[in-house]
Amino acid sequence: MKIRDLLRQGPRPLFSFEFFPPKTEAGEEALFRTIAELKAFRPAFVSITYGAMGSTRALSVAWARRLLEMGLNALAHLTVAGQSRKEVGEVLEGLVGAGVENVLALRGDPPQGQRVFVPHPEGFRYASELVAFIRARYGEALSVGGAAYPEGHPESPSLEADLRHFKAKVEAGLDFAITQLFFNNAHYFGFLERARRLGIGIPILPGIMPITNYQQLRRFTEVCGASIPGPLLSQLERHQDDPKAILEIGVEHATRQVAELLEAGVEGVHFYTLNKSPATRMVLERLGFRPEPPPQRTPGSPPAP
Ligand SMILES: Cc1cc2nc3c(=O)[nH]c(=O)nc-3n(C[C@H](O)[C@H](O)[C@H](O)COP(=O)(O)OP(=O)(O)OC[C@H]3O[C@@H](n4cnc5c(N)ncnc54)[C@H](O)[C@@H]3O)c2cc1C
Repeated sequence: MKIRDLLRQGPRPLFSFEFFPPKTEAGEEALFRTIAELKAFRPAFVSITYGAMGSTRALSVAWARRLLEMGLNALAHLTVAGQSRKEVGEVLEGLVGAGVENVLALRGDPPQGQRVFVPHPEGFRYASELVAFIRARYGEALSVGGAAYPEGHPESPSLEADLRHFKAKVEAGLDFAITQLFFNNAHYFGFLERARRLGIGIPILPGIMPITNYQQLRRFTEVCGASIPGPLLSQLERHQDDPKAILEIGVEHATRQVAELLEAGVEGVHFYTLNKSPATRMVLERLGFRPEPPPQRTPGSPPAP
């Protein structure tokens, strides 16, 4: 189902979960388990990321297909970095052929160690160009989302410039946006207010990542530019070598964030799961959302697959 339609008429609040395509067999098995556990929370959609510079092209398309086969509504991320328009067009064809109806149109980051984004000579420079390309090719047959940055994109000279570029991307044909992760809701509410003042009306889903690992958090925030509130950072630093304590701090913080967002009436929340279920599950359960029980076996029936 198209996310555009779900956001218009679907149940509120909606939840969505983000996964990345694993590269090993053990990683695949773990992801299948994670999906089975999180599926019980009836996500409106689940998204599958696209590796840097198109590195997981085939895997991402295969996982988008798998998610659909598992009865989930798939959102396929697609980045343009390091690929020609022709190559991007072929990936889109593959996704549409697999039955995908939702695409998250992204630029992608420069390769590791490179600070400046250099577009492929026959490729796109900005995500807005990909959005326009998808619209020209598929019209309304696809629901198209894009990224939004409550604290500004790291390459952007100012919040105002970033918002102007975001508006151009929306005008190119976005149906909805998902934000970069943030740990202070004030950034999201401030961004939403500035966006609405500029006439941007599309749903902007907050992206929440429950913290589960201190070192990983520092790596992620260095790349994406999300800030960590001082008191939270000191708490994490004090317990950085105690995984159980970090999980508890992360879940507690994310639960407070999501509770406040829901109270403010957001359409839904997108969880960055990192292919693991416990933290996201704990947040949802602490907020009173219960997973669907597994299907009942009637006497004599074979066990569910
Ligand atoms: C929800 C979400 C999911 C993501 N999923 C993936 C993924 O699966 N794979 C992956 O590799 N990365 C992913 N990313 C990361 C993303 O690729 C990077 O943040 C990337 O650096 C920017 O992508 P974008 O689509 O926001 O780019 P754009 O919207 O093109 O913006 C990039 C920069 O260019 C500027 N800009 C835009 N238009 C103009 C213009 N006309 N003139 C001048 N400047 C302009 C913007 O202000 C910004 O600084 C994701 C990010 C988010 C928030």
